[in-house]
Amino acid sequence: MLLDMADGYVEQNRSLDKRKNLLRGRTVVNLFFENSTRTRTSFELAGKRLGADVINMQVSASSVQKGETLIDTAMTLNAMHLDVLVVRHPDSGAVKLLSEKVNCAVINGGDGSHEHPTQALLDALTIRRRKGRLSGLTVAICGDVLHSRVARSNIHLLNVMGARVRLVGPRTLLPSQVERMGVEVFHDMRAGLEDVDVVMMLRIQNERMRGNFIPSIREYFHFFGLDYDKLALAKPDAVIMHPGPMNRGVEIDSDVADDVERSLIREQVEMGVAVRMACLHALAGPLPNADGGA
Ligand code: ASP
Repeated sequence: MLLDMADGYVEQNRSLDKRKNLLRGRTVVNLFFENSTRTRTSFELAGKRLGADVINMQVSASSVQKGETLIDTAMTLNAMHLDVLVVRHPDSGAVKLLSEKVNCAVINGGDGSHEHPTQALLDALTIRRRKGRLSGLTVAICGDVLHSRVARSNIHLLNVMGARVRLVGPRTLLPSQVERMGVEVFHDMRAGLEDVDVVMMLRIQNERMRGNFIPSIREYFHFFGLDYDKLALAKPDAVIMHPGPMNRGVEIDSDVADDVERSLIREQVEMGVAVRMACLHALAGPLPNADGGA
């Protein structure tokens, strides 16, 4: 399973010799139509540490700026015999559409406010390594759930893994009929954090907002920002997570974010590389029982 495989890669990444030749001869292309720091860099590192050739396509420097459509871009890349295409796109569903037009494996690096599956995997790995399990834990996902692909992917994966998921946020930032996703909903952060094992904060996604969703940053922080006062309601050993990039002082207090005992935010970044190595391995590595490759 991917999380077990990723566990092995954590050790490889901490050792002096970080490189394997498992994906020698394979080509991975990062095609990002939206900004990214962690996801793009970690896919690049993951591919290189497995010995693949990795190319980062700058959409701002590509023919997309000249009006080439998403599908034409995909067909062009497809003709170059790639093995894996990692795509991030501002529109929900765009990555799936593209995956239907190419022959190589496609990984969703985040599509609009829809899904960000490798983020959910790295979050699950981070929690499992700290808590020893996922099943039976209570995880509160807090803040701008409405615009968050991270939240959606985490809800699916955490439910599958047997965790209990709570969504905490103002009514304006929670999707309607969200209870159907198998979660508990709270509009009061103090009630939502009571006795949870994990507090997962989300960024206020200004770039996806059309209209006013919160009265002011100050008021938002007062009611929904994570500070030590609200954290005190969670279990004493509850951990803090955030997918990044953080808006310090908006959804999370700076001291809480940097708390070395309780914040797993740096571990999340580390696990991101290992999880993406596992995904590339699973999709482009040698088939079991095939010779060569290693
Ligand atoms: N980096 C994550 C994403 O791309 C979370 C965020 O941007 O807030 O969805």
